[in-house]
Amino acid sequence: MRLLGHTLIVGMLTILTQLGGLAWLGALGFRRRLLAFVLLYAVIWVGAVQLAPLGGRQALPCFGEPLQMQSPFYCVTLRHFVKPELADLAGDVAARVEAEFPGTLTLALDGGFPFFDGFPLLPHLSHSDGEKLDFAFYYTDAMGGYLPGKTRSPLGYFAFDALDHQICPKAWPTMRWDLRPLQSVFPGRPLDVARTRALATALLQDPRLGKMFLEPPLSEQMGLSHPKLRFQGCRAARHDDHIHIQL
Ligand SMILES: [Zn+2]
Repeated sequence: MRLLGHTLIVGMLTILTQLGGLAWLGALGFRRRLLAFVLLYAVIWVGAVQLAPLGGRQALPCFGEPLQMQSPFYCVTLRHFVKPELADLAGDVAARVEAEFPGTLTLALDGGFPFFDGFPLLPHLSHSDGEKLDFAFYYTDAMGGYLPGKTRSPLGYFAFDALDHQICPKAWPTMRWDLRPLQSVFPGRPLDVARTRALATALLQDPRLGKMFLEPPLSEQMGLSHPKLRFQGCRAARHDDHIHIQL
């Protein structure tokens, strides 16, 4: 029974953070297990940030401007690693948006884990090679004033902005959750269309970009159209809560 419990914990930590399960295994040898886990995790975390470049990944900034991770959650859980080329692209587009709209803070969401191609970053199907990154939308207050560093949901995902547009038939199985009951919990901040359009445009104009996903009603609202701007399809996760890009 205890073995099952530990296996579950290691499994969950591995799915969530890639390396956290190792810290739990190491902590099993200590009497003050939780403390040992926290300390071991901290050591592993620092090691991952230092060593990831050897495998061609680097950590995106957890603090600072004009680009940072949306929440400490992404940094603590080691989900903020991408290839250097993608890190450069993210920094460059954030700088372009900031140049157009001074004071704008661009927020990154899930990137990838520090090591190994093919290790999936759940629940994403594709974030497994350091070449994928999600960005949060920008939002305003009710008067249309930009809200720096703020999203609608705690982690930037799942506050959907195009639920009124029925563009897919109801299908199953599907990753296209709409999480209706959650929607009323999130504050009703309007999308900052101008800034989000500026970010999307900067991304689409960059030759390093391979492909971008955004929900068609939002692309239309922003007047965006580009061969690299795609619809992810009806069985994949929605993209009216964030922008997905890949090299
Ligand atoms: Zn994505």
